[in-house]
Amino acid sequence: MQDIHERLKAEIAARREELIALTQDLIRIPTLNPPGENYREICDYLAKRLGAKGFEVQLIRAEGAPGDSNRYPRWNVLARRDGAHPGDCVHFNSHTDVVEVGHGWTFDPFGGEVSEGRIYGRGACDMKGGLAASIIAVEVFVDLCPDFAGAIEISGTADEESGGYGGVAYLAEQGFFAPARVQHVIIPEPLNKDRICLGHRGGWWAEIETKGEIAHGSMPFLGDCAVRHMGAVLDAFERELFPAMAARHTDMPVVPEGARQSTMNINSIHGGQAEQDPDYTGLPAHCVPDSCRIVIDRRYLPEESHESVSREIRELLEALKSNRAKFEYRLDEINHVAPSMTDRNAPVVTTVAEAIEQVLGKAPDYVASPGTYDQKHIDRIGKLKNCIAYGPGVLELAHKPDEWVGIDDMVESAQVMALSLAALCLPVSG
Ligand SMILES: [Zn+2]
Repeated sequence: MQDIHERLKAEIAARREELIALTQDLIRIPTLNPPGENYREICDYLAKRLGAKGFEVQLIRAEGAPGDSNRYPRWNVLARRDGAHPGDCVHFNSHTDVVEVGHGWTFDPFGGEVSEGRIYGRGACDMKGGLAASIIAVEVFVDLCPDFAGAIEISGTADEESGGYGGVAYLAEQGFFAPARVQHVIIPEPLNKDRICLGHRGGWWAEIETKGEIAHGSMPFLGDCAVRHMGAVLDAFERELFPAMAARHTDMPVVPEGARQSTMNINSIHGGQAEQDPDYTGLPAHCVPDSCRIVIDRRYLPEESHESVSREIRELLEALKSNRAKFEYRLDEINHVAPSMTDRNAPVVTTVAEAIEQVLGKAPDYVASPGTYDQKHIDRIGKLKNCIAYGPGVLELAHKPDEWVGIDDMVESAQVMALSLAALCLPVSG
């Protein structure tokens, strides 16, 4: 076993240039989401590469999923290679989409430039670097250990940045993550090469509307101002909800530490007349607004529940209704994601932890993510609990300008992935 570990590590180090070139190729396919561009192109690229390595490849379109259209089809790729003996299937899942570029770049966001040991570009860190590292790890493993047991799968999936419904959720609904088919899942999201991410907090998104009555702005007493009612809602949030949330702490090892409490963002607020086009030169009309809406993004802890989180907001609104004249509201849930947490003693966790020790000479840190990622679908829809996020890259760089991934980090995390495959897919006598 020791011998094969050294050979796997050496071969991955020898393929450093290939790893760089692969990462650059992936960055140069601008898979922006929204709207979901070039999914087919990146799937074709991955299918060609893995097909040539003896993988059986399927291209799967998430037809009818949110966001799927003929103009922006949600394509996913799934590559599988069966071993020479029966055994467990190890699946590496990466999302292929990247978020918008934004301002402040000094590198070409789709250039894949290399500078001082880093590769720059949108998606370098989140998560094309992780995808490339997993591909090199798997290719080296099957080259050196062709008579492995079980099966190895690599998927490149759409739409993680917009909820994953056209990607992992769709594949899970089709049974691709059923525990009878897949036993171990590693998602190479950028959690750093020495950290194992066990899961994520829950999320609850809702829209609140306060209602009023339109009237002439010179006689507001003849109407009812929905914006003032929303002001009362926001005031109640400040006085009651935010302090209550800040006092709740979780045992989950969420990073960064500020996310170890309940949090809520107010994403947007809209009240009164619609904004005019920028070229409109007239003055606003004088009206009392009859509607004001906010969208809230409530992240919750495993110690809380979907029910308690929504009930808390509704009770606050009901209290306003009984104390405040003419207060009327509407509360609609937009989306909900339950927290997900893999057991620290699950086989994929202990295997990757041991591989991290072997490659980096240190015990891993165990963390959880403040936001959700595709583990939620593998857990809830696929019913597969043996799933972690492990991959190269600095989480804080995700979605930022001049996003980069460290080349050494990619090499070392690919070595960890290959040693994990050796532990899971080589018969003990091997
Ligand atoms: Zn990501």
